[in-house]
Amino acid sequence: MLRFAPSPTGDMHTGNLRAAIFNYILAKQKNEKFLLRIEDTDTARNIEGKDKEIMFLLNLFGITWDNLVYQSDNFPRHRQLAEYLISKGDAFYCYCTKEFLEQKREEAKERREAFRYDDSWAELEKASNPKPVVRLRGSKEEIKFVDCIKGEIQFAPNEVDSFVILKEDGIPTYNFACAVDDMLYDVDFIVRGEDHVSNTPKQMLIHKDLNYNKEMKFAHLPILLNDEGKKMSKRDNASSVQWLLDSGFLPQAIVNYLILMGNKTPCEVFTLQDSLEWFDICKIAKAPAHFDMDKLKFLNREHFKRINEQDLAVLLGYKDASIGALAKIYLQEASTLNEIREKIDKIFANKTLLLNQIQESAQSEIQSNEILEFKAEIIDLQKVILGMLESQDWAKSEFNTFKESAMQISALKGKKFFKPLRFLLTGFVNGPELSDLFPILRLFLKDIVRS
Ligand code: GLU
Repeated sequence: MLRFAPSPTGDMHTGNLRAAIFNYILAKQKNEKFLLRIEDTDTARNIEGKDKEIMFLLNLFGITWDNLVYQSDNFPRHRQLAEYLISKGDAFYCYCTKEFLEQKREEAKERREAFRYDDSWAELEKASNPKPVVRLRGSKEEIKFVDCIKGEIQFAPNEVDSFVILKEDGIPTYNFACAVDDMLYDVDFIVRGEDHVSNTPKQMLIHKDLNYNKEMKFAHLPILLNDEGKKMSKRDNASSVQWLLDSGFLPQAIVNYLILMGNKTPCEVFTLQDSLEWFDICKIAKAPAHFDMDKLKFLNREHFKRINEQDLAVLLGYKDASIGALAKIYLQEASTLNEIREKIDKIFANKTLLLNQIQESAQSEIQSNEILEFKAEIIDLQKVILGMLESQDWAKSEFNTFKESAMQISALKGKKFFKPLRFLLTGFVNGPELSDLFPILRLFLKDIVRS
């Protein structure tokens, strides 16, 4: 069994989605079940509705699960097993107050030593503290495991000191609930972020003390780096799955990129389904993976090319398949749904209003200045074209015929003709070849050149 175990404490991070995708692929490849476990042990930090949001996002990315568990439903089992560990002497009540531990931490810092919990402290404050926690006795032996990505990882005997498994309110800690539930649901391959490497020996120790001997496999995924080569944090937009979607990246392109980054794949552009054929978790590079926005944009364009024109039109908020065809031409210069939508919406914008808006907002962009430079010609040419549309149906005309008529009637030449023409047809003074766009634009000329 494989599992994805998100905490419902915040927005889904791109790194978490990557872990979900890899676990899902492995489950499919091994023909094993895939468990979605909502890790709601941190009751103070849980956010109402985040569980549903996670499920919605996973579905959007094509990830489905066979089994759904809320960790809090198992709290009675966790407590029962903690009591079992106390009864066999592997766990004990610790009455230390936060203040006491803080002081010990300070003292260790002054001695320039790593803080280690000392089991002899457990009952020092028993008389004054009625709310003990439960700790699992630390390991006296070295703990090691082989990680599919990182190789062998060892922890010295003193590295895992006695740690909390039940908090003072009887709620299990992440490590305890996680290890117990991995055991209860027969999870035997764990793929998660490398920030959990230090938790792995604790979870292994819990299994050992529960006499659970199943061999677990681990793959800890290297962290993601931002454009500047620093660890991607909440401040980096690309760390948020929702931000990527809101920016107009397609789910299939995001999945493609998260499988491709820091990996050796047989090709660059593929679907989640394709990757089931060849994905190999051991090929993920040990080094942190750089999040490369340009690569994601490239993949987004590639996946737009694969979408049929009708579906693309609907994604953009239009009904007619030819709008999808138009959008594909704009892939030369637009990479995201939002960028493409901006182009298409400008084509259908009322050009008189658009011209006024540009003037009023006094934008200093070159594009705006260039438009305003031809304001008089735009107004003239608009009248000419409106007249042409009254007297003739141009829906089957060649671009050259249309262009030459407009040029002749308006008596405008060169830049003074072409820039206004492009603006009236597309809302911009630069862009793809008008002759490429015209076979589609001609179907909608009355909607496009309106005043
Ligand atoms: N709830 C943990 C997280 O979101 C899960 C870690 C794990 O997969 O064990 O980071």
